[in-house]
Amino acid sequence: MEKLLLFTPGPVNVAANVRAAVGLEDICHRELEFEDLLRSIEGRLLQLFEIRNEQDYQAVVITGSGTAANEAMLSSVVGDQNILILSNGEFGDRLHAISQVHNQNTGFIQFPWGEPINLEVVAEYLQNHQIDFIALAHHETSSGMLNPLGTIGALARVNGSALLVDCVSSAGAESIDMERDNIAFCSSSSSKAIGSYPGLSFVIGEVLEYEKLKSIPARSAYLNLYKFFEFAIGRSQTPNTPAIPLFFALDQALANILNEGVRHRRAKILRTAKILRHEMKELGLTFFLNTEDMSSVLTTVFVPPYVDIAVFRQRLREESIIIYAGKGPLKDRVFQIGNIGEFSDTDVFQFIAVLRETLNKFRIPEDAGITILSQHVPDPPMLPTVPPLSVVVNGEVIFSKTALVDSLGSDHSRTIPGDSAPVAGEITSSI
Ligand SMILES: *Cc1c(COP(=O)(O)O)cnc(C)c1O
Repeated sequence: MEKLLLFTPGPVNVAANVRAAVGLEDICHRELEFEDLLRSIEGRLLQLFEIRNEQDYQAVVITGSGTAANEAMLSSVVGDQNILILSNGEFGDRLHAISQVHNQNTGFIQFPWGEPINLEVVAEYLQNHQIDFIALAHHETSSGMLNPLGTIGALARVNGSALLVDCVSSAGAESIDMERDNIAFCSSSSSKAIGSYPGLSFVIGEVLEYEKLKSIPARSAYLNLYKFFEFAIGRSQTPNTPAIPLFFALDQALANILNEGVRHRRAKILRTAKILRHEMKELGLTFFLNTEDMSSVLTTVFVPPYVDIAVFRQRLREESIIIYAGKGPLKDRVFQIGNIGEFSDTDVFQFIAVLRETLNKFRIPEDAGITILSQHVPDPPMLPTVPPLSVVVNGEVIFSKTALVDSLGSDHSRTIPGDSAPVAGEITSSI
């Protein structure tokens, strides 16, 4: 099979030395060889996160995809305290779903996909509720929006709440400052911007915060974060049998980033994103988000009106290029182009060339015999605006304003149980 180029948010194309590392050695996880390997990964993860006071932080590695790390955090940290989940997309919603399984006191503020988290709304909620933890996705992969940890962290600090952050798709590509932003724990996985295989995830947390978990009854046996911490400190072990070959691969992928330089790697990812965005604009494509809201990991692109997305993805597949489809309210409206993983500039320009050719086939009837593309393609029609933004807690409207949303229609809006009017920002609360 010809090599597939994965222009997706992950899994990604891995480096040759990461592929080779998987089969490195047969070792027993209860022996020194594994402890050395895990110790190396733990140290490299703290370096990747640019933790200044390394002695105050600990990384634990979990066998399981990114969701396992999210569930370890959410099932082990909250206990009978109150947690607020902030969401503006699929992955924020998933954090809410996980928290609801484990935590009785789960508050939820949900914003439309592609809308920034409204800090006024959050601040008002925090004023009226005792919130111990705030959880959110840093990079909301479903829309491509990067949520601002600086301002949300500052808000959390003033309020005395600690942050739990899903950094699954941002670690390795975006700057994350756990120390500055009051982040008690954050989670991520091996298979996105870190550039290894899927199957491992990890949590990084403050030692003081892990120690608090000792007195909190575990809601999960396998994903008990305190147990992972206990096995990690001092001996670099895991509670259960780890997926050893993936640990070799992760260690190599981290070494690759550190050898290159964490900041250099981030700059390279951003540069690739900029090249792709520039070239896609030249092709007349338009984007779901404003540039300043985008992460450097991927670009969410409107499906042009003349394109059948299923055929489009199939034609790219035939050229060994894989792109990502839109999810939820963005299904069939957008596609996503990831730019993490092992690409050369040649791969990137090869992708652009295939994209140009594929779009041309949709624009120009095959028998017209014309191959030059008209430069101007009209923007997609303005989608309907959403109804006035209102936030309702237990039936009471606590916030309301008229919001214009230029990208999502009313079919995206949610309804509150017992209220048939759709709203654009919804709070549900059991606190
Ligand atoms: C990919 C992703 C996850 C985890 O998904 P898995 O399928 O469990 O790896 C969680 N959060 C975000 C923001 C993601 O992008």
